[in-house]
Amino acid sequence: MADRFNDLQEFLRQERELLGELLLAEIANGEPLHVPTQKSSQSPPAEELTLFGGTTQEKVPMTQEQWGSEQTLEGLNAAICDCVKCPLGQTRTRFVFGVGNPKATLMLIGEAPGADEDMQGEPFVGKAGMLLNKILEAIRFRREEVYICNILKCRPPGNRKPVAEEVDLCLPYLRKQISLVKPRVILALGLTAAENLLQTTESLGRLRGRVLNYDGIPLMVTYHPAALLRNPNWKRPTWEDVQALRKLHDELAPHT
Ligand code: URA
Repeated sequence: MADRFNDLQEFLRQERELLGELLLAEIANGEPLHVPTQKSSQSPPAEELTLFGGTTQEKVPMTQEQWGSEQTLEGLNAAICDCVKCPLGQTRTRFVFGVGNPKATLMLIGEAPGADEDMQGEPFVGKAGMLLNKILEAIRFRREEVYICNILKCRPPGNRKPVAEEVDLCLPYLRKQISLVKPRVILALGLTAAENLLQTTESLGRLRGRVLNYDGIPLMVTYHPAALLRNPNWKRPTWEDVQALRKLHDELAPHT
């Protein structure tokens, strides 16, 4: 009897080594052992499951990434708003998830929250945001009608450009957000948004004026509103970009 018990313990030790804490067996005061009858052949060891599709070296057990199965924007926000995966989680004032119509046909994606956004928890509420509202008005969209968010959900200190590690960790949230909104068209505001969504190194000059493809969704690129504040000469080309965007958006409307 003692031998069989030792064999079982050895079996469990080896299983735990292989499967880690996925294997839960109780050994308590002579209680029966609850040994799984079958080794879990369908689910690989937790440490081999990542949610980042191989884009990051960090391996995170699937069990810690419940947000992947959220079905609403509110649920997703609630699941990720305490994120501290990258150092920006320590320096932010507020997590800036995104704002607007959850069923928007147009989604606008900027770079990262600035100081005003970090304080208020909403994207594009500062000077660049005021200009963005005017750009939207020019093509007959109200801010509440569209969905607005950023590549990063937390402010980089001093408004510096996001670094690759921050983008790698944050982009999966945005991808999920896009999959929930399912916009008809996306407008990337500036090169940071464009290059990370499209995984391209092409210049803004080469990306503007084209209908590109983000995961089957038509995507157009224009200047970032903050760049327009610094370079008013770019307002005219931006106006042309957004007119083309509006046309594309309307042409893609489902026929009733
Ligand atoms: N710039 C951005 O890219 N996003 C904001 O939300 C504000 C400024």
